[in-house]
Amino acid sequence: MGQYAQMEKTIPSNIGGIMGYRRNLDKYEYPDPEEIDFSKPLADLAIVGYIQNNHIIRQSSMKFYLENRSIQDMNTMKNSFGIIDSHEHVLLNTFAQSEEISQIWDKCSFDSACLLSTQGIGYITQNIKCLLLKIKYPHVYAFGGLEHYQFNRSCGKPDYLKQIKRMDALGFDGVKMIEGKPIVRQKLNKRLDDGMFDAFYSYAQDHSITITFHVADPPTFWNKELIPDWALKEGWYYGTGEYIPYRQFYEEIEGILKKHPNLKMILAHFFFLSEDINEAKRFLNTYPNICFDLTPGTEMYFNFTRDTDRWRQFFSDYQDRLIFGTDITDEDTNNLSTSNLARNFLEMDETFVAFGVNVSGLGLDKPIIQKIYRDNFLRMAGDRPKRVCIKEAIAECQWVKEYIDNLELLDLSYFDSLLYQDKDKAYYELREIEQGFIKASKSALE
Ligand SMILES: [Zn+2]
Repeated sequence: MGQYAQMEKTIPSNIGGIMGYRRNLDKYEYPDPEEIDFSKPLADLAIVGYIQNNHIIRQSSMKFYLENRSIQDMNTMKNSFGIIDSHEHVLLNTFAQSEEISQIWDKCSFDSACLLSTQGIGYITQNIKCLLLKIKYPHVYAFGGLEHYQFNRSCGKPDYLKQIKRMDALGFDGVKMIEGKPIVRQKLNKRLDDGMFDAFYSYAQDHSITITFHVADPPTFWNKELIPDWALKEGWYYGTGEYIPYRQFYEEIEGILKKHPNLKMILAHFFFLSEDINEAKRFLNTYPNICFDLTPGTEMYFNFTRDTDRWRQFFSDYQDRLIFGTDITDEDTNNLSTSNLARNFLEMDETFVAFGVNVSGLGLDKPIIQKIYRDNFLRMAGDRPKRVCIKEAIAECQWVKEYIDNLELLDLSYFDSLLYQDKDKAYYELREIEQGFIKASKSALE
């Protein structure tokens, strides 16, 4: 019933019927407005539009845009921003869901997305999976991940330079590093600015390859009193002494940027600086080639709400340095709510409820939103996605096969070995991906 009340508040009184709504997140329904049963829960962002005099008054993220278009245009209307979601993952083990991720883009009205490989945690089929999706959806970007066992590529120590060259040849648009997440950083047991990465960072800098970097986590995760329950359950309490302190992550990133000042980096989740506006400003002022993405961490939006005026000014001052992202995955059911939170915050100029908490929207001007939704990402990742080299991708599958064959020989305590306790599952996933490449290469020849 709460939703009904909210709608009454937001629907201008001179407007006609409800055009459609989503109850299950999987499809629009277009009922007679009189027949809608508001006592049953609606999906959030339930109302998609209203009709008045044969014109659509469209609601986008709870904000109304009056568009002089006829009803017939409704299906071709997406959003007028051309949103690119810079931060998504494909995590499900079987590949049958690749259809699913494109449905999510439709649901959220995204024009394009960037798939970020989590290969850096030892999930060895991630890079090829992202590449296959890039072939299937050529308008989509993908950033590849590193591999730390260096299986069969050189003797002993990892050759990250070779790996980034390989990613470049395969057709990745950038690199994703999850290695700065505290748990991963702890297993890696190397500083992020360690000399062993130097040639890799230099290559990225010289070839203008952007790295999206997950660095640290919210500072409350180091504090037993302040850490939220859900994070504690995930095992993300870092105050035990095993993990490096919060501040050290920032030192290590500055270490990289001092050595490679022109390196293009997108620091994910606002670099976890939403509690410290001055530090966020200092960082952006000091390093002109970095951007922050606005991917939740919901805490970020709750922090922004504590001082909306100051943050609105920040978003205006740094409008060229902020990039929209959601962390949407194919195994998550909260996708639309997350996207709504991130969008409402930028677009709405009033308070809304997200995940049970009041958040104040900034109601930014459209040209600023346009930069955050699209232009800034394109500047970092390239005007259009690179093409995948299918021949190299098939060769990469062979390497992944040998890797899985020899899993027992690797020291899997190093990273998240649990991902491949079930080798059959890994082979199955690999086969599905490989068949996809073979099919693509055949149709390319036709
Ligand atoms: Zn992510």
